[in-house]
Amino acid sequence: MLDKVVIANRGEIALRILRACKELGIKTVAVYSKADRDLLHVRLADQAVCIGPAPSKESYLNIPALISAAEVTDAQAIHPGYGFLAENADFADAVECSGFKFIGPRAESIRLMGNKVSAIVAMKAAGVPTVPGSDGPVNAENAVEVAKRIGLPVIIKAAAGGGGRGMRVVFEESEVLNSLLVTKSEAGAAFGDDTVYMEKFLQHPRHVEIQVIGDGEGKAIHLFDRDCSLQRRHQKVVEEAPAPGIPQKLREEVYTACVRACEQMKYRGAGTFEFLYEDERFYFIEMNTRVQVEHPVTEMVTGIDIIKEQLRVAAGLGLSVTQDQVKLQGHAVESRINAEDPRTFMPCPGKVNYYHAPGGPGIRMDSHLYSGYSVPPNYDSLIGKLIAYGPTREIALKRLHNALDEIVVDGIRTNIALHRDVILRDEAFLEGGVDIHHLEKQLSQG
Ligand code: ADP
Repeated sequence: MLDKVVIANRGEIALRILRACKELGIKTVAVYSKADRDLLHVRLADQAVCIGPAPSKESYLNIPALISAAEVTDAQAIHPGYGFLAENADFADAVECSGFKFIGPRAESIRLMGNKVSAIVAMKAAGVPTVPGSDGPVNAENAVEVAKRIGLPVIIKAAAGGGGRGMRVVFEESEVLNSLLVTKSEAGAAFGDDTVYMEKFLQHPRHVEIQVIGDGEGKAIHLFDRDCSLQRRHQKVVEEAPAPGIPQKLREEVYTACVRACEQMKYRGAGTFEFLYEDERFYFIEMNTRVQVEHPVTEMVTGIDIIKEQLRVAAGLGLSVTQDQVKLQGHAVESRINAEDPRTFMPCPGKVNYYHAPGGPGIRMDSHLYSGYSVPPNYDSLIGKLIAYGPTREIALKRLHNALDEIVVDGIRTNIALHRDVILRDEAFLEGGVDIHHLEKQLSQG
């Protein structure tokens, strides 16, 4: 096993990684910005290194500072978590060139999947179904013609995009050119790459994704699927595993295609194939080459610790299970708890005067909160993930509801009420299988 790991992240995922390392007897190094001295995992880590001031650019995105932290602490490997540098191929390269292990895929896999245009080409070649689209970049010369061929409405997307940004839906032919230019310039500014491509805009899809883990040697397994259709502004709000109501045969087909794609690229570590699912068809949209925020729902229904598998693979120990040994049992649902106003969705950082975590059978709370902790204004507003497991979806949802009644986060505004009073009272959601526009429609009516 690895001896010592640098956790190049913050918040709940840093704590989650620390817990997995401790379970495996791996020593931990927390790195933190000046705004994050009081993070829970910083106190619990074997060593802690300040890597710079509050702005992410100068700390969590500061590659030389992170590598120096690994050097001075004599660590062996770096876990990037999600966000920040997790899908930055140059970071993965820098880590490995400096003699450390990057706990994630090889830089070439990150690069291939990080560009959505090349990702789609690779997936098509591996037999993964994709959204009808431009099959390559679009520009001012060919945009209108490509849009007409695909058929309106279309969505123009940044090849280097992420986090739900750099996308624009176009309904009218007369708007294609202008939308293309705007998306291109936004993409250039946000991602340093103004390449954009076009896809058919699906009108009522669900977001269904497949979790995979590869050993980096050509073996890979899948850990079934998750439904992340409850979104606001392309950001996930609630996730569950498995996705309700999808015919088994269709699931099996898409699992097989994803595993084949991973094996072909000798994929290393955890990854997720994201699909839109509409009218009993899967359409690949992108692959995330990291552990995802919503990984716990999969852990709850499979009993497999995805972070521990990442650490095993990085240590060269391979996967702990074969595909045959992975069994799906029960149902899990996750509510993302954000420090934000439940009505305006504006971030609400500040001091948490009192925090009480919910409990009971099947409840898991992944959070770095504690009473007296101040949520800094510098980073994203995720303050915790409340996960409920049950033998059936119905029981998981009941438990989630109870837990949302129990949880107390006093001092700052959160979206707990949105989960408890809006989402968990929504009949269509309780029924299962709503599409990606459902939550926003509900919100605009309420
Ligand atoms: P990001 O990398 O920014 O997360 P994705 O390509 O994963 O971007 O898309 C994010 C979300 O945007 C999807 O979950 C879905 O809600 C919406 N979306 C993306 N592509 C399409 C499409 N072709 N049709 C309809 N909605 C789409």
